[in-house]
Amino acid sequence: MTANVHDEETTTALEVACDTAVSGCVFKLRTEEDDRGRLLEITRDHVAEQHGKEFTLEEIEEQHVETVSVPVGEQEHEHEHKQ
Ligand SMILES: [Zn+2]
Repeated sequence: MTANVHDEETTTALEVACDTAVSGCVFKLRTEEDDRGRLLEITRDHVAEQHGKEFTLEEIEEQHVETVSVPVGEQEHEHEHKQ
């Protein structure tokens, strides 16, 4: 157990998850907010190649991209709430 004297800083990230009706697809991607364009392009390519569907970048952004907060430097760490 380590003493944590710092406030937990968070950074904003973008997350996209493949949400087609195809079962078994676990495509999920998270990037920094600045990488929005790349995130959209990678997702569009994935959907086109893996699922044979054409989406515009705009559609992907509207329907699949979520903004999430992640702790700086602790992205692997699950935050537990205990009483
Ligand atoms: Zn997929």
